[in-house]
Amino acid sequence: MCPPPAAGTLAAMNVIETNSLGKRYGGTWALRECTLAIPAGHVAALVGPNGAGKTTLLNLAVGLAVPTAGTVTVLGGQSAGSPAALDGIAFVAQDAPLYRNLPAADLLHLTRNLSRRFDQPYARARLDDLGIPLNRKAGKLSGGQQAQLALTLALARRPRLLVLDEPVAMLDPVARQDFMGTVLTAAAADGVSVLLSSHVLPELERAASYLVLLSRGRVQVTGQVAALLAARQLASLEELALAYLREDSVEVTR
Ligand code: ATP
Repeated sequence: MCPPPAAGTLAAMNVIETNSLGKRYGGTWALRECTLAIPAGHVAALVGPNGAGKTTLLNLAVGLAVPTAGTVTVLGGQSAGSPAALDGIAFVAQDAPLYRNLPAADLLHLTRNLSRRFDQPYARARLDDLGIPLNRKAGKLSGGQQAQLALTLALARRPRLLVLDEPVAMLDPVARQDFMGTVLTAAAADGVSVLLSSHVLPELERAASYLVLLSRGRVQVTGQVAALLAARQLASLEELALAYLREDSVEVTR
């Protein structure tokens, strides 16, 4: 597990804070009465079954969706989707969407022109290390390379918060490990806070120090992984998540 931030090393800032946050699509509440506060300095795992509301919560946090009810702020109280919030957040949506017909070099150029900060030497060095040719079109890269390219573009913006929606779902085990290695390095070396949704519990095991578990649009549990494990006398995040999800499915069948 990635160690939680040392006491006193970070200002007591929440990277995401929600209060009775809700999102309804037609007659369906995708997210309901969601109240949570994720402190800075963590790699936070967002876990839950299909349709639990994970993507909805991430979209609300990065300003891609507007709440039906309640509030969401980021980076110590900035309104989600505001210029100040967007400046400090990098988001990689599900399946790392990229302009398939643009070469990696053009994607670097485009992202640099759309961002207030862009660390071009970092981006080039990382693509070089990964063996991703700058002249290759994004659509001609492998799934793992596309994911790494999207992550590189996100990190080169030097965000304070990196938000990833199911980043490793399509990757083979080696690509998965490489991808998560990059995320953990950014968290440990550059102090980037991370929120990532995933169904791949073993991969979260070594990464996450904070957990948000959603089920049927509601927050089931949230808190530091170490404290949650101690409270339930469990040894792993996988056991913890499964325990909560099983309890929830028992509730549903009652
Ligand atoms: P998965 O793990 O399958 O990606 P998720 O936890 O990310 O699921 P969401 O995509 O947030 O779940 O969806 C939550 C609920 O909201 C689902 O019932 C989904 O059908 C519904 N939903 C999400 N987006 C929309 C939309 N744009 N229009 C209508 N319903 C939506």
